[in-house]
Amino acid sequence: MQVQSNPGSTIAMAFDECIANPAEYDYTKASANRTVRWLCRCKEEMQKLNAKSDTINKAQLLFGINQGSTYEDLRIENMQRIVELDLDGYAIGGLAVGESAEDMYRIIDCVEPYMPQNKPRYLMGVGTPLNIIEAVSRGIDLFDCVMPSRNARHGHLFTWEGKRNILNAKYTKDALPVDTECDCPTCRNYSRAYIHHLFKAQEMLAMRLAVMHNLYFYNKLMLKIRNALDEGRFDELKERLSPVIDKRI
Ligand SMILES: [Zn+2]
Repeated sequence: MQVQSNPGSTIAMAFDECIANPAEYDYTKASANRTVRWLCRCKEEMQKLNAKSDTINKAQLLFGINQGSTYEDLRIENMQRIVELDLDGYAIGGLAVGESAEDMYRIIDCVEPYMPQNKPRYLMGVGTPLNIIEAVSRGIDLFDCVMPSRNARHGHLFTWEGKRNILNAKYTKDALPVDTECDCPTCRNYSRAYIHHLFKAQEMLAMRLAVMHNLYFYNKLMLKIRNALDEGRFDELKERLSPVIDKRI
């Protein structure tokens, strides 16, 4: 907690055990209980830290993390216990660790009714554009993920038509931008052929341009989702994007 208090971040996450998947029921139960005990200690420590005169952000928020692997009863019991602690927000952790997307959606569906309506809900470490759309439709507000930057470094670029592997030979002489709809600095200034060439030449600029595009794409995706929610047309956006957004093109 001290390490998280030092830089004065808006949100601090409680300490939790993120177990491997698949996990034994008994181990998962003991681990989820341990995570609750740690959370109680984190909450006490945060109150002490936020009260200190030299703390940078004295209003730092504490989010608890729901665990329980893919066991619905453990997930629900754990969520009920952490909600009792009246935290600033609630995260679902321990997903996107090798289970199927269907299992992940099933667990979100089972714990969501036990999450407070008026607190932020954060799905940790997720995910593909389609995972994000599916999770938002189930009530999730916040995400974090290495995917846009890590995939970019391997030449996998997200577009509004699907995922493009810029290393494919078909891009050798393709003068179009990565995404014809995108107005990021990469797409405004460089062609698919040029970025393909940079990756083949193992030039660092390839990764830089690719990461810039993918981060821009994810920000644009979240913007589209927020606007659609505000305007009451999220279902229409989901229906339009779902069939194409994770497709390989
Ligand atoms: Zn772009």
